[in-house]
Amino acid sequence: MIYWLKKGLSRRTLLHKAGFGLITLGAASAIDTIFEPGLTLAQTGPAPSKEPPMPPAKKLGWAVVGLGKFATEQIIPSFGECKRSKLVALVSGERAKAERYASQYGVNPKNIYNYQNYDSIRNNPEVDVIYIILPNGLHADYTIRGLQALKHVMCEKPMANTVAECQAMIDAAKKRDRKLMIAYRAQYEPYNLAAIELSRSGKLGKLKSITSDHGRNLDPKDPADRWRMDKKLAGGGSLYDIGIYALQATRYITGEEPAEISAMLYSTPGDPRFREIEENVHFMLRFPSGVLANCTSSYGYSDTKRLQVFGADAVLELDPATDYYRHRLMIKRKSGSEEMNIPEQNQFALEMDHLSQSIMDNKQPKTPGEEGLQDVRLMNLIYEAARTGRTIKVNG
Ligand code: NAD
Repeated sequence: MIYWLKKGLSRRTLLHKAGFGLITLGAASAIDTIFEPGLTLAQTGPAPSKEPPMPPAKKLGWAVVGLGKFATEQIIPSFGECKRSKLVALVSGERAKAERYASQYGVNPKNIYNYQNYDSIRNNPEVDVIYIILPNGLHADYTIRGLQALKHVMCEKPMANTVAECQAMIDAAKKRDRKLMIAYRAQYEPYNLAAIELSRSGKLGKLKSITSDHGRNLDPKDPADRWRMDKKLAGGGSLYDIGIYALQATRYITGEEPAEISAMLYSTPGDPRFREIEENVHFMLRFPSGVLANCTSSYGYSDTKRLQVFGADAVLELDPATDYYRHRLMIKRKSGSEEMNIPEQNQFALEMDHLSQSIMDNKQPKTPGEEGLQDVRLMNLIYEAARTGRTIKVNG
């Protein structure tokens, strides 16, 4: 069920004003109706699919590499909501931990691998896809070895530490004719898809500006944050880890690539967390259509994951924009604010099923290696702009 709330109006009045009867609508219809009654959009944030899950024997088999926080708390439990993907193997440095998760999620213990015998996964016909959820500095090596083992690969963001590594991953996938997808979950998440549709279809008027802020406090006591302070394993600081969501958002909202970049970088002097990696990065992007984006990323400010799109007629606010659940989408106009509610769906299951479907259909996934490479390239230009104090022309 999709509905809008407007400050000062009852839901019934609002639905009436917006041209709704009290009916259940798909996302596209809801968006159209509130802005332009009667118009039908081709594509919008998806209504939940009614398609039944494939029988288990037909689902593609996935191996998860790295049993850290994100893998165990989000990804592994999400296989339960997948329609085309099933968990069949685990790769971990700790046998006991892998056995615990294998028993909890019904993985055959014979399909537990470690980092030494990882390459022998090639001989396991149950594994179709490998999902790399390791520290960033290990992505390239384990992705390329996964592709050499003739498996398709999903790799976590950021794709790798350097542009050269990203290119080597893309080349390895091409050479073995395997799919390589970067796990940009926001591009499969219904609220972000609705934001894209609203922004790109002109419903906000001509787009003028985007702001996006992503920050949190890096916690040295958290094992998942320790490698994030090590440049070799992390690749970069807050920008590589979470500023990448802001950069991604500017690109998927506009559907354009930035033409110019300027940036500033600052880390609190003496803070031991920032000996190797940066704390704060602010960057500005100019897109060919004239949209200006102003983004911040930080490892020092309180939890923030928000996106605002400023159009000539309306402002879209998604806050949180890139959380795991509980997104909030507001449209603000001179005449008042409206809130859009879309049924939450498991974005991890949606993205994994997208890759499985792409493999079944032999199609390029929506967020292939090239998409990850572009972000790594742009993040390095952001660092360069901050270092030199110059505005950088992206293709100059
Ligand atoms: P984590 O530290 O919890 O997990 C990393 C795993 O890698 C651990 O199990 C660790 O034991 C293992 N590992 C293997 N070799 C290692 C080595 N040499 N050094 C350190 N650890 C090693 O971290 P995490 O937060 O789960 O992040 C893992 C990856 O997932 C990162 O690339 C991160 O960017 C990504 N991530 C993505 C999202 C998202 O929303 N898409 C969210 C969190 C993390």
